[in-house]
Amino acid sequence: MNELKSKVKELLGSKEIDLFIGYEQGTRLPRPLLAASCEEADRLIFDEYCTGNLAVYLTRKDLVGGKKVGIAASYYAMRSISRLLDENQLQEGAVKIFGLPPDGAGLKVFETVAEVKQHLQEAPAPPKQVEDGWVKEIEEMPAAERWRFWASELSKCFRCYACRAACPMCYCTKCIVEVNRPQWVQPWAATASNMEWQINRVMHMAGRCADCGACGAACPLGLPVHIIAHKMVEMVTQNFGEPAGKGNVLSTFSPNDKENFIR
Ligand code: SF4
Ligand code: SF4
Repeated sequence: MNELKSKVKELLGSKEIDLFIGYEQGTRLPRPLLAASCEEADRLIFDEYCTGNLAVYLTRKDLVGGKKVGIAASYYAMRSISRLLDENQLQEGAVKIFGLPPDGAGLKVFETVAEVKQHLQEAPAPPKQVEDGWVKEIEEMPAAERWRFWASELSKCFRCYACRAACPMCYCTKCIVEVNRPQWVQPWAATASNMEWQINRVMHMAGRCADCGACGAACPLGLPVHIIAHKMVEMVTQNFGEPAGKGNVLSTFSPNDKENFIR
């Protein structure tokens, strides 16, 4: 932790960065900290509870526009950053990425996209035991039971859109649920339209999702919507052979696509 603080303070002091996006202690759990001075950087922490995906702030022009930014990035946040760079939402060299393992030990500062991508290829993804267990359990349900499970879970959704707000890849200024000519998805809460909302959300993530779990963690009702995203990542990997967050499979075509999902 001291290593992180002193490096951030050094870069803020030398004006190599104007802002550092990290975590500070909240009332119960860590919360985001946007440190613009060495005094603010003194409040930085990073531990196993810093599980959000801070990359969500990198497309917030009101916060980071025109600034040289540093960010504390978990493995999954680095996946999102890599994808945001590929989608031209970030400029190469505009962000210094402080890659941190869950315990905060072993800080590594990445300067280039190539370094980030190489790290993601070489470093094993941290285990996600909760998701793995749930996915298997849900998969083993007969189709009708699986449908009832998701209808029951999503019937409780009150459409706060925290799952969308927490996701670094949901950066559109106007979401499909806000478009009303035509009205693609009913904007009010109801079981059918809640399911439609999640299906749309996750379809838009196909090949782009970092599998970070931030959408599920943000849901105030504890709805496991990250499991749907996780399943999508698995299906994309199986059908397109692409690791998570490698490319938008809805808008790309390869003659080698298996197309085994078209029946
Ligand atoms: S859909 Fe969920 S798991 Fe995927 S990148 Fe967005 S927040 Fe992370
Ligand atoms: S965060 Fe939860 S309650 Fe809010 S829209 Fe998403 S699934 Fe529904």
